[in-house]
Amino acid sequence: MNRRQFLKSALFTTIGAVVLSACKKVVTETKNLIDKVSTKKYKNLDISVIGFGCMRLPQKDGEPDIEKTQELVDYAMDHGINYYDTAWFYHGGKSELAVGQVMKKHSRNSYYLADKMPLRILKDKSEVIPIFEEQLKKCQVEYFDFYLAHNINKREWETLKKCEVYEQLLQQKKDGKIKYLGFSIHDTPELLEEVVNTYKWDFVQLPINPIDWKVVDAKKQYEIATKAGLPVVVMNPLKGGQLSTLTEKAVEILKNEEPNVSPSSWSLRYAASLPNVFVVLSGMTEMEHVTDNVKTFTDFKPLTEKEQEVLASAIAAYNSSGAISCTYCQYCTGCPIGIDIPKNFLIYNQYKANNRKERFIIAYESIKEENRADKCINCGICKPKCPQKLDIPNLLKDISNLYKELKK
Ligand code: SF4
Ligand code: SF4
Repeated sequence: MNRRQFLKSALFTTIGAVVLSACKKVVTETKNLIDKVSTKKYKNLDISVIGFGCMRLPQKDGEPDIEKTQELVDYAMDHGINYYDTAWFYHGGKSELAVGQVMKKHSRNSYYLADKMPLRILKDKSEVIPIFEEQLKKCQVEYFDFYLAHNINKREWETLKKCEVYEQLLQQKKDGKIKYLGFSIHDTPELLEEVVNTYKWDFVQLPINPIDWKVVDAKKQYEIATKAGLPVVVMNPLKGGQLSTLTEKAVEILKNEEPNVSPSSWSLRYAASLPNVFVVLSGMTEMEHVTDNVKTFTDFKPLTEKEQEVLASAIAAYNSSGAISCTYCQYCTGCPIGIDIPKNFLIYNQYKANNRKERFIIAYESIKEENRADKCINCGICKPKCPQKLDIPNLLKDISNLYKELKK
């Protein structure tokens, strides 16, 4: 290389380095400018107030759509959402696999992962650890930050004790494979008291939203947890999506107060405003769910007294519509006839929200005949499975009668 070539090459190298460094600076500064959701303290951890629920991931051909899920999760991570909640039952076991696939590009200490022991399928205590180990493998992690006994109710409580679930999970905690051990519950305050007083837990996951606060004792349950010193993770803050659609009248009340925010944001803020709540889970399926949640929880402010009143008026308007308080949790599946209970309830609630008869008829007829409300034989098998304590057979009868009436 002659002197001229040497000087040219040195010049380009220098310019390249300057440009690269300027680009890096721009990227760093741009990242710093990105909105980040607010956090709350759980012990010494900073947890995003809004958590990513992985029970309603985007789907393709009946399975989680990994590419789309990756986009949502990457956006959520970039905007500071650092709590991810999955479970054995979500997406028929595929949610944990999807979480494993999409989270592996993010460093393990940049997010907190919650998973749950599926009490409902346990028959023997020897099954607990193999299931737990399989969950670690599916999620491609060495440990869970938060781990819960899933969905305690009267039956599962007996299973938990019989199968020595707590004792075995406590050992996993001692071994460093669980950082914090808790449980989720859909039952009475009495059972919650018993669970809280029987074992030493680190946190509890409760269904809290502005409808359940009074109707299914959410307030009482929150108070029991708080008195016992258990921080709360909120599940079902939108009551299976009902609080994101509401009725025209209820939406109007909210829009009159604040035209530029979504109905969902009201209920999510409602749950996050409770001082003993450290994270509110939101099932995110579309990018607009993630962006809306980021908007709601960037510089999060609890609901003011006036906002609480506005929300209460909207809920009163919604409740007067006669909608069924189904959360579409699917716990009632397994009907021997094959009735799709949540789907029938969903179209009924949509009808109550918009009062469009034609739409109801089309939606009802789009359900396969064998899955429709009118095929219910009133065997009652589904009733005890419903955490909302809905009188499912009678409600199905109402839906069937409504269809007959509107069809006339
Ligand atoms: S009561 Fe009706 S919906 Fe429930 S399990 Fe029996 S047939 Fe199915
Ligand atoms: S009827 Fe009950 S169990 Fe079934 S989806 Fe609705 S809330 Fe869940």
